Amino acid sequence: MKVGCLIVKNNQIISDGYNGTPTGHDNECEDLDGHTKREVIHAESNAITKLAKGTSSSEGATLYTTLSPCFECAKLIVQSGIQRVVCGELYRLDEGSEFLKSSGIQVDIFHLTETYDSDDSWEFEGASI
Ligand SMILES: [Zn+2]
Repeated sequence: MKVGCLIVKNNQIISDGYNGTPTGHDNECEDLDGHTKREVIHAESNAITKLAKGTSSSEGATLYTTLSPCFECAKLIVQSGIQRVVCGELYRLDEGSEFLKSSGIQVDIFHLTETYDSDDSWEFEGASI
């Protein structure tokens, strides 16, 4: 599953991430049996830990992600001070989103609609959960 993630603050992208292995490891995420390797870091965790190397703070930021975060990433999101999570797709109404909401984080789902506007912008349909 390809998952990507952006962290945005004050209308600027301060970090990005995708599912992958840590720096220095080959970026093959699955073993020969097709199972996800245990060293794979999720997109959200990669984006958050990238901030630890830089000078930007995730306090009050918004995290955009392809799929709703898993429970492990949700814990990091809460602890990093991110205030809103926007998911392109709710994989399932899972414990990750539930944990985010119970921690006071706004969780929104956005779907791209079929129509492409004449003024060259995509129409978004959003819903808070
Ligand atoms: Zn995760």
